[in-house]
Amino acid sequence: MGNRTNRYRRARGRTALTVAVTAVVVCALSFGAYTLAPRLLGHFQNVVDAGNQPDSAPSAPPASSMPGPSAPAASAPALSAPAVSAPVPPASNPAPSGGAMPAWIDPASLSGYAASHPSLYAKGPVGDFVEAPKGTVYLTFDDGPSALTAPLLQVLDQYGAKATFFLCDQSGMDGYMPEIRKIYEQGSTCAVHSYSHEYKKIYASVDAFLDDFQKMYDKINAETDGHCARVFRFPGGSNATPNEKIREDLLTEMLRRGFVYYDWDGDSRDASDAANSSAAIYQNVVSAIQNGSQVILLHNTGAKQATLDAMPKILQWGKENGYTFAAMPENLDPFYYSFTNKLMIPAMQKTPYFTPSEAMQKKYPQYF
Ligand SMILES: [Zn+2]
Repeated sequence: MGNRTNRYRRARGRTALTVAVTAVVVCALSFGAYTLAPRLLGHFQNVVDAGNQPDSAPSAPPASSMPGPSAPAASAPALSAPAVSAPVPPASNPAPSGGAMPAWIDPASLSGYAASHPSLYAKGPVGDFVEAPKGTVYLTFDDGPSALTAPLLQVLDQYGAKATFFLCDQSGMDGYMPEIRKIYEQGSTCAVHSYSHEYKKIYASVDAFLDDFQKMYDKINAETDGHCARVFRFPGGSNATPNEKIREDLLTEMLRRGFVYYDWDGDSRDASDAANSSAAIYQNVVSAIQNGSQVILLHNTGAKQATLDAMPKILQWGKENGYTFAAMPENLDPFYYSFTNKLMIPAMQKTPYFTPSEAMQKKYPQYF
């Protein structure tokens, strides 16, 4: 462990000074919160290749609502500094997100898609990653907001639960964008899934993906006073077949910009099974948690009434069995599928954004 740690520290040392200056000034408040976090025990016990399964296949929205690959990137909204006396956010909300290129990046060193979208960066270093606490479950809802977002938040509130919403603006969903603020105020994590969720468009090129991502990033920031999380979820999952051709470039580029993707290690199957009764969804989620899953895939489109109906039973079961349902923090150890470990972990080490946890270094010693 010693040699690996030393090598690792030397590598980090090259950027430490720059990071220290920018981090202290720019994000002292958020960074402080993370560094005060306890060192957490427990680990993902059941990381499987669940990401092979598409998360959902919504019907294709009309082309008129699609951002074209050549559409100009919307500029990020002006982000207010985190005010100590701000009435929101609740403690579990992430720190204000980015919107500007970090000081450690020399714009002149960038070319191609890396030089595009100069405001599409997460804010500052995230601090040391931590493992998921044992007994904590992260319920993740894809594809909202929708008419079922407010009812879902009510159920979560009834059980004192938080969740993570990977959000979209699919066809006809514009009217539900204000629901994002309700998610934010409830204390759950608001994060990007996709603007269009149309595989052919978003995975046509890295640039096309960045165009789409920025549109949703800006929308969420606008609804949350700049608190869109840096965590995100690829439509279809990180190893979805549609992103195969650009996958490595895309995964690396998003990490370079400070955004961390999360797949899932437990599937409610509320999108992948045709007969997704609330009883089946309940059983799938409970079984997954009993098997050690901590990041659960669910959906929150207007069609997912069965998912909503299953939630009280799921949350009640969790309560009775000692589980905590939490919003995903921004420094949660990412868990990558084996095929991406060799790509992702070195990519994380190249940017001051991330400091892999000690547990991660022990788990994947070959990369440190
Ligand atoms: Zn989706």
